[in-house]
Amino acid sequence: MKALLKVGYTCNNNCVFCHSSAHRRHPDLTTAQLLRKVDLCAAAGRTMVVLSGGEPTIRPELFTWAERIAALDMDVGLVTNGVVLAYREVVERLVRTRLRYVYLSLHGGTAKVHNSLVRTDAFEHALAALANLSGRGLDLSVNCVVTRTNVDHLRDVVDAVLPFPDVALKLSMVEPKGGGDRLFDHLMPRVAHAAERVSDAIRYGIERAGGSSARFRHGAIPLCLVPGLEDRFSDLKTHGYATMVEVGEADYFPVDDLNKVQPEEPCRGCALSGPCPGLYAGYHAVHGAAELRPVHDRPRSGSFEYALEALVTTAAEPNRCPLRDDGEGVTPWDRGRTLFVREGERIVRFRCTSRDFSDAELERTKLTHGQVYADLSRESAPQDVARPAAKLRRSELCSGCPEHDRCTGLYEPVLEHAPMRDDARVRELLATLTGDVLDVGSGHGAYQDVLGPLAAAGTIRCRGVDGAAEPFAEADAHFDHVLLLRQWNCVREPRRMLESLASALRPGGSLTIVDRVASGVARERPQGARAETGPRSSERYRNDEPSDVVRLARGLPLSARERFDVGPGTSDQWLVRFERA
Ligand code: SF4
Ligand code: SF4
Repeated sequence: MKALLKVGYTCNNNCVFCHSSAHRRHPDLTTAQLLRKVDLCAAAGRTMVVLSGGEPTIRPELFTWAERIAALDMDVGLVTNGVVLAYREVVERLVRTRLRYVYLSLHGGTAKVHNSLVRTDAFEHALAALANLSGRGLDLSVNCVVTRTNVDHLRDVVDAVLPFPDVALKLSMVEPKGGGDRLFDHLMPRVAHAAERVSDAIRYGIERAGGSSARFRHGAIPLCLVPGLEDRFSDLKTHGYATMVEVGEADYFPVDDLNKVQPEEPCRGCALSGPCPGLYAGYHAVHGAAELRPVHDRPRSGSFEYALEALVTTAAEPNRCPLRDDGEGVTPWDRGRTLFVREGERIVRFRCTSRDFSDAELERTKLTHGQVYADLSRESAPQDVARPAAKLRRSELCSGCPEHDRCTGLYEPVLEHAPMRDDARVRELLATLTGDVLDVGSGHGAYQDVLGPLAAAGTIRCRGVDGAAEPFAEADAHFDHVLLLRQWNCVREPRRMLESLASALRPGGSLTIVDRVASGVARERPQGARAETGPRSSERYRNDEPSDVVRLARGLPLSARERFDVGPGTSDQWLVRFERA
């Protein structure tokens, strides 16, 4: 994984949208300060240090830094405007010093457009840099920031990079930060228009490159606005970055999407919310979310994997925390994606790389719902056997720790049978039913062992509706109880389903809905590989919790009477029970 290290904010361009323009007077890092941050990368097991700024290539110490990074057995990367890399001997010396990744700015396909955005005559230098870098086996990307100046000229940028077949092009929405914030009205295109022009440029590039090129990508654009190109999304995580550090920060922080929002309305429940970047918060504050088009008809995953990243120690002391007390640090670890697990004296670090779940969803699953589990066996699992996973709970060490609310936490397996206990409560409730019962999705048969004997004894008259994906035509209001058991997240149109369920009930009747939230499982590599290649659920559309169902029921003649919510002390199964008015 990469770490992004900002070396200072001094720059030889003067981009109109520059994020760092307000920090130009901040002193640049000294070599001693920078090398300390390089050492932190090596200690954290990073495989590449990417130098950024400002502009890192204007620093005379650049080769010294690269040599130190290479000496610590890490690769070197650069985020650059490319001006200095127009000098071939600079590129050759850097490549000899393990330069492996370059992310280069090109904001127009002509000198007129590019130079007007960077406010120097840099276009020819940037193209010369591309010529020098191409063909050397580097991971090479061009980033074009999309503004009102270039939004209608993006095919020109495609044309400029087409001669370099190893160069990927990313078209990124301008961020309302620094210059992009100060000149918002001048620079910011409407996101729907930008998405349409970016889509056009990507399709043009694919066609010109021969029909199947993965080189053309987009960034910071809501996925609902680029239909058919969703998988061409690119951000720091798709580029393999784990952490970054600003000039004035003492330690690294995880790369995150905190500058972006997925507004509750309309994004909640959108099937693309996992990988989607949403809107820049500053854009949403000005223009709102009316341009968004949520997607509800695509299946999504109900679980994710944490893969083994590092063995932290085999000699953990009971009252010492490796993050706080033993040098791992508290800030570099992503609260949702990183998982430290202690089992006896062994502490292992896992990481989740799934893009089916957003950072916010992972944090909610791990820290709020507490639905993380671990397969701690060290042997390979046979391909057809799923190992039972132990529930993980946050260590007692974290209680009262001053770092609790900003830390990823330390987790330990607990011996408990929460799934059986929570399911027993559902069974007890079902066992009290009498009268006419409608069981929607009964083909699933999750509770036939309870309902079958009740029907055989004549206590209930049970009618089943097979399949729960679509609302059903059962509006004659003659049931005392309606059940939707472990099927809610498979319903395509949940509001319409709730209307059908409510209309099937007699006044005073009950509607019982049971399902599960998402969960994460930490596995050591052989099991992880098995899970990644295993079949995916093809019928789950959401990972809702009771509050989502209650919110959707607003305005219907249904009152919530009973709820089992999910939390760190429960299994992943929830229940909500309504009464028909
Ligand atoms: S989560 Fe929101 S912004 Fe993203 S694709 Fe869905 S509706 Fe669009
Ligand atoms: S919150 Fe827990 S894991 Fe984090 S520093 Fe404190 S004790 Fe360590």
